[in-house]
Amino acid sequence: MSHPGEEQDNVKAKWIEKMVKSAKRYHKLCPYYDKRTGQCLLMVTVEGRTGKCDREGRFDGCPVFTKFLEKMYEYYRSRKKVLPNDFQDVVQQAYFVL
Ligand code: SF4
Repeated sequence: MSHPGEEQDNVKAKWIEKMVKSAKRYHKLCPYYDKRTGQCLLMVTVEGRTGKCDREGRFDGCPVFTKFLEKMYEYYRSRKKVLPNDFQDVVQQAYFVL
């Protein structure tokens, strides 16, 4: 049985997957991973607290990284904006959004 939000959930999951793939083309390690200190630079925006990355910068499947993309997705949807195809566009827009 499908539920009303299911299609949107699929669109969201597909878009997040696409952005992770796109991010991988640019970054070997998470762009929000501070190698020197081990801090996750996204945690404060996404979780409202500071914290260390316990994944050594492997962002594929990272809950914090996924949450960040989810937040961006909600932003695009609520503003009826076109979903970006490139991770770099998300990064630039996130600067103003989050
Ligand atoms: S916790 Fe996730 S988002 Fe944060 S630096 Fe590590 S891989 Fe990146």
